[in-house]
Amino acid sequence: MNRRKFLSLASAGIAAAASSVSVRAASADAAKGHPEAVGVLHDSTLCIGCRSCEAACQSVNSAILPKPENYRVPEKPFYDRSVLAAKRQTDFQRFTVVNRYAVDGRRPVHRKFQCNHCVEPACASACFVKALYKTPGGPVLYRSELCVGCRYCMVACPFFVPAYDYDNAWNPLIYKCTMCAPRVADGQLPGCVSRCPEQALIFGKRSELIKIAQARIKESPEKYVQHIYGEHEVGGTCWLYLSPVPHNILDQPEVGDVSPSRLTSGILETAGMAAGILSVLLGAACFVSRRRGNDAVNECGGGTETGAARDTGGETHKEASEDNKEGGQ
Ligand code: SF4
Ligand code: SF4
Ligand code: SF4
Repeated sequence: MNRRKFLSLASAGIAAAASSVSVRAASADAAKGHPEAVGVLHDSTLCIGCRSCEAACQSVNSAILPKPENYRVPEKPFYDRSVLAAKRQTDFQRFTVVNRYAVDGRRPVHRKFQCNHCVEPACASACFVKALYKTPGGPVLYRSELCVGCRYCMVACPFFVPAYDYDNAWNPLIYKCTMCAPRVADGQLPGCVSRCPEQALIFGKRSELIKIAQARIKESPEKYVQHIYGEHEVGGTCWLYLSPVPHNILDQPEVGDVSPSRLTSGILETAGMAAGILSVLLGAACFVSRRRGNDAVNECGGGTETGAARDTGGETHKEASEDNKEGGQ
């Protein structure tokens, strides 16, 4: 342990402590939200489970879904509604699915699944390389070139959305709905919205969608449960849902109103601060301990032929090399 190493350890510790402060700052920023964010409202009282949205999604995302040789979707044609007999989940080959729910005494209810594009996405806060990130416009997007394949996002997502391409041994990636960000940037509607024959999907500014949903509930209270799923769940989501039955019947979990990233920010902050302080203390202890050891050797007069002396010489040589390297850069 020389002065250089001690200083670098200490600065790493200070950086770790400082990063914990930035976690709090980032969390505070997220709380402001994105007033211009867009989203989609799914009204399941209008949805007929036709799967046109699934077909559209597959079509508009053909360039980014896994290559045709691995293609298994659709297992049955999109017009085949027999698939609705079983509950399905999104995966790396399909960004959206529609499921059917039999409810006593009424016609079945259909609900569309895809990434909810959370206002404060847990997937993005769990992604330490920032491969997943929230855009001010609403979509939560993915940079495959940054992804290290840790799959923390899959664990963090309260809706079990990010999917991993386990079939790809060489370059497995995460897959999920993009809210059709490239199409939206181009002035088009998301593929699923554009193809819905029943207008069960509405695209627009999230704040406007909430007003539309509130108005529908107010105008037809007998038709809807008095709850817009996604308005507050996990701090709010850009996909919003109206339903004629309690949302938990449609497999929409009761996740609370606080974003998971906000819940963990305190832990991360404490852990970051603790790691920073601990590394400084350990560095100091190691530095003092080594100093004492060297002093003891010198006091015995055996320094010149000891390993400690050779180590010191080696370190000096190494330090000089490092200095040379730095000087040459
Ligand atoms: S296209 Fe529209 S009506 Fe058809 S399943 Fe999708 S959301 Fe429902
Ligand atoms: S639904 Fe899951 S994957 Fe989508 S933004 Fe929220 S946390 Fe991320
Ligand atoms: S917004 Fe785009 S990517 Fe997402 S479900 Fe709809 S079509 Fe698929």
